[in-house]
Amino acid sequence: MFSSIKKTTQKLINLGFQDDHANDVNQKHVVNFSYLVFCFGCFLLMAMSLIPFIPIVFFVSFICICLAFIGLRCNYLGHYARAQLLMPILKMAQVTLLTLFYFGSESGFHFLLLHVIAYSFIVFRADQGFTKGIIVGVSSLLFLMCAFLSLKGVYLTESKQNLLLVSVFFFIAIYFSVVINLVMSRLKSANQYLRVLAEKDELTGLSNRRKVLADAVNIFADSVINRESCVFAIVDLDHFKKINDTYGHEAGDFVLTKVAGKMQSVIRPIDKVGRYGGEEFIILMPKTRLPQAELVMEHLRQTIASLVIETDKGIIIPVTISIGLAPISPEVTRYEEILAAADKGLYAAKRNGRNRVAVSPDFQDGN
Ligand code: GH3
Ligand code: MG
Ligand code: MG
Repeated sequence: MFSSIKKTTQKLINLGFQDDHANDVNQKHVVNFSYLVFCFGCFLLMAMSLIPFIPIVFFVSFICICLAFIGLRCNYLGHYARAQLLMPILKMAQVTLLTLFYFGSESGFHFLLLHVIAYSFIVFRADQGFTKGIIVGVSSLLFLMCAFLSLKGVYLTESKQNLLLVSVFFFIAIYFSVVINLVMSRLKSANQYLRVLAEKDELTGLSNRRKVLADAVNIFADSVINRESCVFAIVDLDHFKKINDTYGHEAGDFVLTKVAGKMQSVIRPIDKVGRYGGEEFIILMPKTRLPQAELVMEHLRQTIASLVIETDKGIIIPVTISIGLAPISPEVTRYEEILAAADKGLYAAKRNGRNRVAVSPDFQDGN
């Protein structure tokens, strides 16, 4: 039951917009959430005003709920700006009317205007500074008016007065904690999404150059610290320019995507692969000695050579790769030196006829 309440609330908070990646940093969520809290408060006030029946509280609360539904509907229909503005106006009107004509200053009811100020700072963007200023200014003035006019509550008993003070306190506490939580968690997921975007190669979905080089730094450092071996490989598609020239650039992209996907599935779970640039990729093999790395890379080469890549026009494009390999060695002080050695291996593989795996000449005898 708790989870279904949570799901429904989540649905209502997301009302009227799709924001799977949280790029919208949540103002719309705060607007929807404010309407929900507002409606809940109005329902409570209506219930409280039934025994004994207090027409003004009942009537104002009822009108507020109707208007809040109009606000939510605006958001649902995509009129976000209207929904955004109606909320603070409603809240200011409700708090002022009820404080002036029923609850009085001692109720502390006007402290609910703090919602409006917090809401304005979160929900209005920098370019809506004027609107924000007006709403913050008006709600501050209304607060001062309610506080300094020292209005007396009309029918409030002392126990109801205390109940109201406690409710106002909890409403403000809950509102602030949920809104802060909402803002933080949406920011977190937005950050996470941006991080994935910053580390991913758009075409192939593999790690991009920045990420794979960062992985290389980490693997190199771990190998040095733990005195373990690691091997770096550079993979290059053979005669890729010819593939582009023969079948078109789009088909070339398709081949790159297919080869990248296959590479990802063939390497071991501990290995890392990323696009180095163009039709070149890097494979990082931590905790691995050269002979074992050669086996893994040979298996990869064979898999790609036997890969059947068929375009949507039914054309089969043959593709092969050349791979250069180099392990870490005691003389190496920077990871770039291993990559440079692997590049020498790649050059040797190309020179010897392509579609092959070659260890850097610096390490021909193993390590
Ligand atoms: P080699 O066997 O010596 O590696 O020959 P090659 O043709 O593969 O190498 P070359 O460096 O001459 O050409 C690489 C080509 O890869 C040239 C470039 O247009 C193409 N290329 C680079 N990035 C992309 C890409 O993202 N998509 C497509 N379709 N082609 C790309
Ligand atoms: Mg190439
Ligand atoms: Mg190349």
